[in-house]
Amino acid sequence: MNNLLLKSYLRCKRKAWLELWGEKSLKTWSAQQSINLITEFSNFNQYTNGDLFKGRKACEKGVKGVIGIKIRDKLKNEFKIEINPSLLIRTNGDSIWGKYKYLPAVSKLGRRTTREHQLDLALCSIFIERFQKAKIEYGLVISSQNNKIYTEKIFINKKLRDKAINLFFELNESLKYKIPQITENRKKCSICSWKKFCDKEAESNGFLTDIDGIGSKTAQSLKNIGINDVKQLASCDRSKLKNRLSIHDENDFKKFNQIINQSKSYVSGLPIHLKSQKELLDLFKKLKQGFFVFDIESNPDENHDFLYGLLSVENVYDQTENFVYKPILNLINKNKYNIEIFKQLNSKNKWPILHFGETEKITMIKMAKIINLNKFEIDSLESRFIDLHLLIRDSWILPIKNYSLKTVANWVGFDWTQKNISGSKALYWWLQYSYTKENSFLEKIINYNKDDCLATLAITKWHLNNADKFLKES
Ligand code: SF4
Repeated sequence: MNNLLLKSYLRCKRKAWLELWGEKSLKTWSAQQSINLITEFSNFNQYTNGDLFKGRKACEKGVKGVIGIKIRDKLKNEFKIEINPSLLIRTNGDSIWGKYKYLPAVSKLGRRTTREHQLDLALCSIFIERFQKAKIEYGLVISSQNNKIYTEKIFINKKLRDKAINLFFELNESLKYKIPQITENRKKCSICSWKKFCDKEAESNGFLTDIDGIGSKTAQSLKNIGINDVKQLASCDRSKLKNRLSIHDENDFKKFNQIINQSKSYVSGLPIHLKSQKELLDLFKKLKQGFFVFDIESNPDENHDFLYGLLSVENVYDQTENFVYKPILNLINKNKYNIEIFKQLNSKNKWPILHFGETEKITMIKMAKIINLNKFEIDSLESRFIDLHLLIRDSWILPIKNYSLKTVANWVGFDWTQKNISGSKALYWWLQYSYTKENSFLEKIINYNKDDCLATLAITKWHLNNADKFLKES
């Protein structure tokens, strides 16, 4: 039993169980976890100005930061516990080593300090106090943004200590029984290394939360009226469901209609088309003159867009080799604008700019304001953006779990050249490039970005072909 299991337990009870008892070969590498580790080390190194060493000897020497300490002890004289504090920071005080003592610290990604940070600090504090024979009043949460280090003090009061201990007992109990259910909040699963394992089980059991638009609350409402899986939902009668759930609001009815359609498509494996001929013809007309596909890679914690990828498409039905891909790197996070990307977009100033998700449009409009484009120029730039994600969501119900670029493109038959790829992995490569300046990491990111552009194009082609086919057939 250790504090790492408690951290897992706070995220998902099942995760803690799997970490202890699960078949390790079923666990997959998580880019997000590696990003956490890289960021953690960088934050600790910056905070301690490099005075960072490993193990108990480092405590005896009194260095500023100590990592890699393991403290073995007993909780309430009952069961054995091992504590692995992320970082110990030297401060004034009296301890077994002399006129100094250590405080625990954790690193965080993003802005939010969570229960997990607070309780980990509290649990570690209890045992570090016993280990160094000196009281701990507070712990630190360390984060970084725009190359600056920030710290937040978390006071380790009695309430927090008691909570950490009670949760630890609760965790101990949970680990005695069979594997807990898959979490209702499947959003948590996206960065979990047990995702593949749990996805398989959720799919074979027809979990309602596997359907796009069904969160834990909606799933519970459906279960309350006896709809427990996707098949039941797909075959239910809409008006009966409306009555049984007492739905009076038009928007709520639309939402339930949508999830019934989504489950029907999911069960049958068939897409459902929702739009008219006119909308499709409008899109054909816009794209006929040629268009750009645009995709940005960024580090959200540093607010840094490090790559703008642009694919020029003269004719959507051309061979892939005929499309020109241009990566524009923005390696230094200095100016909040990039003139080169404007130059490229303006080289064909009538071409629409196709992108997947809202980021690209928001970023470019923000940049346009920074470089003082006038209202007419900003409006004209804004009108060129076509968000393919929105367009697909409005036009289709597809037999998939979500409408991310990866899921939709995989479903239409697009394969990324690099395997097991994701936005997190690209960010992981970027962090590695930032520390090593190894160009091979940049090459991987550029290839990934090019594939994202080609994936967007593949979805566009699929949409144009299939919407046309559906409309002709109907
Ligand atoms: S994939 Fe989801 S349900 Fe499974 S262990 Fe991870 S967070 Fe829990």
